[in-house]
Amino acid sequence: MSKKSVYKRALLKISGEALSGPNRGIDFDSLSLIADEILEAHKLGVELGIVIGGGNIFRGASAEKWMDRVSSDYMGMLATCINALALQEALEKRNIMTRVQTAIQISEIAEPYIRRRALRHLDKGRVVIFAGGTGNPYFTTDTTAALRAMEISAEIVLKATQVDGVYEQDPATGNGGKRFDEIKYIEVLDKGLKLLDSTSISLCMDNKMPLIAFELKKKGNIVRVLQGEKVGTKIQ
Ligand code: UDP
Repeated sequence: MSKKSVYKRALLKISGEALSGPNRGIDFDSLSLIADEILEAHKLGVELGIVIGGGNIFRGASAEKWMDRVSSDYMGMLATCINALALQEALEKRNIMTRVQTAIQISEIAEPYIRRRALRHLDKGRVVIFAGGTGNPYFTTDTTAALRAMEISAEIVLKATQVDGVYEQDPATGNGGKRFDEIKYIEVLDKGLKLLDSTSISLCMDNKMPLIAFELKKKGNIVRVLQGEKVGTKIQ
C-alpha cells in the first residue's frame, strides 16, 4: 500500500466527546492520542481541514429546560472554540502548522472564518481548525463539517466516531445488528440511522459529498482511511 493519501484535501470531523476521558471536559491523554493520529495523517501530504465539536463541554439542547435555546447554542459554539485551541496547541507541539478559524469572531485568539484565507492556509500545508460551528444556533458541528467540506472543495468528510461504522441499530443499545461497509445517504435517512443529524445528511446528499464514518481511537485508522483502505462505513 502506497504511503500517500488517495485524497488531496479532506475534512476531518472530531466530536468534542472524543477529547473527554472518564470525565467531561478535556482529557489530555485523549487529546495527545488524537494529535498523534493527525500527525501521522498529515505526513501523508493530505491537505487537512478539521471541524471540532463541543459536546464534551456543552451542548445547547441539553440546557433547553433552563435557558433560551439560542443563548445555549452560542455557549455550545464557544465550547468548540475551547476545544479548537486545545487541539491547536497539541498539533503545534508536534510541529504541525495550524490556524484556527472561528465562525463567531474572537479575533484576539483566532482568525475569523474567511474561506479564501482558509484555502491559502491549506495550500501551504497548514491544518485549518474550523471552530464555532456554522456560527448559527440550531445547527451542529456535523452540519458544519459538511458545509466547510464543500466550501473548501474537500473530496471527502472523515467522520471520526466512537464506533467503527454505521450499524442497522444503535450499537449503544447492545444490539447493533449488521454493520454497513457502504450505504447511501437516502437509506441513512429512510432507516433513521442515528450517526449524523438529518441536516448534515441532506447537505452531503444534495451536494454529492461522500463521507466515511470510522472509529477514531483505533490506532492508525485515519491513515488507513486516507490511504483508501476499507475502514468503517462509506456513505455516498
Ligand atoms: N452549535 C450550534 N451551531 C453550530 C454548531 C454547534 O449552535 O453550527 C452548538 C450546539 O449547541 C451544539 C454545540 O454547539 O450542541 C456543540 O456542537 P456539537 O453538539 O455538534 O458537538 P459534538 O457532538 O460534535 O461534540
